[in-house]
Amino acid sequence: MPNPTPSPRPILVLGAGIIGLTTALRLLRSPLCTTYSYTVHILADHWPTDGHAAGYASLAAGAHHLSFADDADSRQRGWDWKSESLSSRTRRAADRAAFETLYAEWERVGEETGLMRIKQTEYMSEGTHLKIYEQHPDFVVNDPTFLPAGIAHSVSFTSLTITPLTYLAHLLRLIRAHPNVRLHRAHLPSLSSLSCPPILSLLGQPPALVVNCTGIGSASLGGVSDTQVHPVRGHVVLVRAPWVKEGFTRQIGSLNGAEGGERTYVIPRADGTVVLGGTRQVGDWDTAPTKEDREGVLRRALEICPELLRAGTGSDGKMVADSGEGEERGRDGFRNGNGRRWKRLEGMMVDEVVGLRPQRYGGIRLEVGESVKLDDGKEVKVVHNYGHGGAGWQSCWGCAEDVVRLVQAELGTDLGSARAKL
Ligand SMILES: Cc1cc2nc3c(=O)[nH]c(=O)nc-3n(C[C@H](O)[C@H](O)[C@H](O)COP(=O)(O)OP(=O)(O)OC[C@H]3O[C@@H](n4cnc5c(N)ncnc54)[C@H](O)[C@@H]3O)c2cc1C
Repeated sequence: MPNPTPSPRPILVLGAGIIGLTTALRLLRSPLCTTYSYTVHILADHWPTDGHAAGYASLAAGAHHLSFADDADSRQRGWDWKSESLSSRTRRAADRAAFETLYAEWERVGEETGLMRIKQTEYMSEGTHLKIYEQHPDFVVNDPTFLPAGIAHSVSFTSLTITPLTYLAHLLRLIRAHPNVRLHRAHLPSLSSLSCPPILSLLGQPPALVVNCTGIGSASLGGVSDTQVHPVRGHVVLVRAPWVKEGFTRQIGSLNGAEGGERTYVIPRADGTVVLGGTRQVGDWDTAPTKEDREGVLRRALEICPELLRAGTGSDGKMVADSGEGEERGRDGFRNGNGRRWKRLEGMMVDEVVGLRPQRYGGIRLEVGESVKLDDGKEVKVVHNYGHGGAGWQSCWGCAEDVVRLVQAELGTDLGSARAKL
């Protein structure tokens, strides 16, 4: 084992989206900081409270925990959850994978941090579901007799949704409570500019190691310039409908690993709003909402969740959905949300957002990168954690866990079994 002499040079987390903030918090709670006194600096040009921006996917997300991990993709399954098929080494890293961490947090503090437990129903045009869904509490395969035409298979289970700004603000509060953390707002054009005076004046000295959590920024960040990183544009509409407490997704065609086919989703949030989506336009950098996308999203959302339009209370006291009596039915048998009905839903709209999912051909890049040699001769180690596409929220804690393991090994502070507590 390398000599674990603590370096006075800090660890820099680059990026303050869900990936950067969970990574930073996980580092702060690890022996790197609690035993070896490393300081963690977080540097980003966009922070959660700055509002929506093209280079900031985390606020645009739904966000629900609904893994896309293929049955054979044990790496992604480990980040999203933990899989029985993992090797013991990977299982250790995934022990605190995202669903379990978020679920435990919800059990501890309820909806205060923006987490909401929901019943989730999936409709699929193809006859199978991802195996990882079976790990969710209350998993059931729905009776095929009652499926809408065009739907071959449906499952329901318990999952979580997240109000992004509330959860990100909660993470920031936890981070700020640590004495050995510093936060900076700055743009880093290139990893080699870590030695340039404006950046050095913020950090005090060049970092010992950088964790690159720049999302879509990794396409343009000098020293990384990853040509495999590209945007998958997503248009979501936010309506106020606090009576909707169940999530729905409809997948037409193959998911194809992550972003295949047509996907429609209804994501209720703890704050009473419901996110309706979505679009998946590969390689499209345009962040302006379009009328066509909005109309398409509203129509499709209404098809899978007619309860969005509240009709009134039934004799048993339960809410009864607008029946859509007399409305045309879609060719797939779902009630077709056309005519005045989607217009009524549009009237309930409180916001609409276009975000760019930081997708990467080849999947998430979570590995040790090439070190950077600065002008003054100092070497900065690099660990990458980017390219989470449409799955950053659901894999954040699992990925952060792996990053800590890599950073500890790189800095010679690998304590083996001495693992940090979340
Ligand atoms: C419409 C939509 C719906 C989604 N729904 C879900 C969902 O339901 N579930 C789910 O798990 N995921 C979902 N996602 C995906 C999820 O939002 C992303 O995977 C996640 O937000 C990526 O987080 P990140 O921290 O890597 O990137 P970002 O949130 O984009 O943050 C990147 C950070 O890096 C900083 N940065 C970049 N370059 C530089 C630089 N050169 N110098 C300084 N700072 C820099 C930025 O300022 C920012 O702070 C959705 C995404 C979209 C767009």
